[in-house]
Amino acid sequence: MSSAESDTPTDRTPSGRVDVCVIGSGPAGSLVAHRLAAAGYEVVVLEAGPRFDESERTEQLDAHLRPGEGNPWDVGGERDAYTDAGERGYPLNAARVKGVGGSTLHWQGMVMRLHERDFEMDSRYGVGTDWPLSYTDLQPYYAEAESALGVAGADDNPYAPPREEPHPMSAFPPSHSDSIFAEACESLGLDMHSVPNARNSEAYDDASACVGYGTCRPVCPSGAKYTAERTVAKAEAAGARVIDRAPVQRLEHDSAGETVERAVYATPDGETHAQTARRFVVACGGVETPRLLLLSRSEQYPDGLANSSGLVGRYFMDHLFAGAGGTYDRPTEQNHVGFNTSECHQFYDEADPVVGMKLEFLNYAGPSPVLGALNADTWGDELLGDLQGAYGTHVAMGALVEQLPRSENRIELDPSTTDDHGNPVPEIHWSLDDRTRAGLRRANEIQTAVLTELGVSPEWTVGPEDTGPAYHHMGTTRMGTDPASSVVRPDLRTHDLRNCWIVGSSPFPTGGAMNPTLTIAALSLLAADRLEESLAQA
Ligand SMILES: Cc1cc2nc3c(=O)[nH]c(=O)nc-3n(C[C@H](O)[C@H](O)[C@H](O)COP(=O)(O)OP(=O)(O)OC[C@H]3O[C@@H](n4cnc5c(N)ncnc54)[C@H](O)[C@@H]3O)c2cc1C
Ligand code: SF4
Repeated sequence: MSSAESDTPTDRTPSGRVDVCVIGSGPAGSLVAHRLAAAGYEVVVLEAGPRFDESERTEQLDAHLRPGEGNPWDVGGERDAYTDAGERGYPLNAARVKGVGGSTLHWQGMVMRLHERDFEMDSRYGVGTDWPLSYTDLQPYYAEAESALGVAGADDNPYAPPREEPHPMSAFPPSHSDSIFAEACESLGLDMHSVPNARNSEAYDDASACVGYGTCRPVCPSGAKYTAERTVAKAEAAGARVIDRAPVQRLEHDSAGETVERAVYATPDGETHAQTARRFVVACGGVETPRLLLLSRSEQYPDGLANSSGLVGRYFMDHLFAGAGGTYDRPTEQNHVGFNTSECHQFYDEADPVVGMKLEFLNYAGPSPVLGALNADTWGDELLGDLQGAYGTHVAMGALVEQLPRSENRIELDPSTTDDHGNPVPEIHWSLDDRTRAGLRRANEIQTAVLTELGVSPEWTVGPEDTGPAYHHMGTTRMGTDPASSVVRPDLRTHDLRNCWIVGSSPFPTGGAMNPTLTIAALSLLAADRLEESLAQA
């Protein structure tokens, strides 16, 4: 039985009224909880999913590698039910994990800062919207976030925004296949540079250096890849109380409708409890955060909490994947490294089409010999021949392409389908626009040019027709200064309720094309500072 299923007696009854109740223990919630607990405030974290035992990571690795062993993070089922009503399917349960540590249990760990242009899309290009914050406002928090997540990186990216100090650890060296790509990129005038990774290139934060298991996604057995469990542990050491398997069912407000009074949560024994607090922080991810607000409707707020703008759930965005790959005539050593070591941000700020784009040089193209062997139907010499034929000469490039905010892309409640507690599930409406399609085509053009320069004919491409999301759900409680057109203020507090903050990617007004979690972490640290000021006042 996995620790996720075991039910050792755990006290899940609420604490008395605490200073801060944080809902969700991913990077966003755990960073706020740690910061405030360390400042001496009484903090309770309510987490819907289980606490996974870190000593069982090798069994979880087995569960990933061996056919039929199930998902290492218990994703899916009635608890995680959702409906997909959009023009384009959205695989929500591949895009999140519910558990202590949140989706970082399963993530890849690439962590870049947004560029200055991402905060100024309307002023610069007349598209999307501006953020109510600038890159400079967030810059000190980015540095703190890099230290909290343990980022290995270098200052070799000529397109990166300005930074104030080196990354906490030095970057990983480029992989063998990066060196193959480097020749083609040089002839084409493309700049390759390192990828900042939230994984240890040396021992850091009581965790070992990366030892190259190559299974970073979905599970890193060595602990070298950052998961928010690290921050949860620090929060607990600083005095925070973390209650797992405690999904919050709704938030209830005071009679004036000005403050949240309690978070009502369920426990595995069938009980329902309420945690009261001076401040509430909703950190449930880009889909469950708007869902919880919508589920918390009341007589006074029939459209849901913090929703006087009517925008809760709207402007849902993700990054789109574009890719191309083929077979090279020499060994490429793919899958020896489980993460990317080089990228190209040269086209990110390009204005034609106006969508951010970053190019990736994949280190996991083609089948891995281990997965090939475990899933094969053949044996002995035949199996060896099959593996030798399938492995060794693949190369591929990927790209993330920006999707600008559109009001019709949204999360709603689907009252016709309910979860294991009888609550309407989230209904996802997601579609692609022509500008994003043009960005995907542009990415494919560059990828094809690089492969052709290498002498590789692309054997597959992923473009506008068959693209999919990068699992970065953003934008459903957007940040702004005007309560009529945003849900949270620039300090991440909701416009409507004066003791309720929202952290995560849902406040992003636009999403750029950089993986979002470093920005999530920076915003969470900013919110923690503002929360601390507000707690000190009253
Ligand atoms: C396969 C994959 C690869 C990824 N790779 C990258 C990457 O390389 N770089 C990057 O930047 N990002 C990546 N991401 C995205 C990254 O994981 C998320 O951006 C990040 O985890 C979001 O942090 P969060 O704290 O806002 O939300 P989450 O990490 O999703 O945490 C939210 C938590 O809230 C809990 N919760 C939800 N509802 C409730 C409720 N009602 N009551 C109590 N608790 C609740 C959930 O159980 C969950 O634990 C990847 C994601 C996936 C799935
Ligand atoms: S390669 Fe990935 S899975 Fe292996 S130790 Fe490094 S970070 Fe962890």
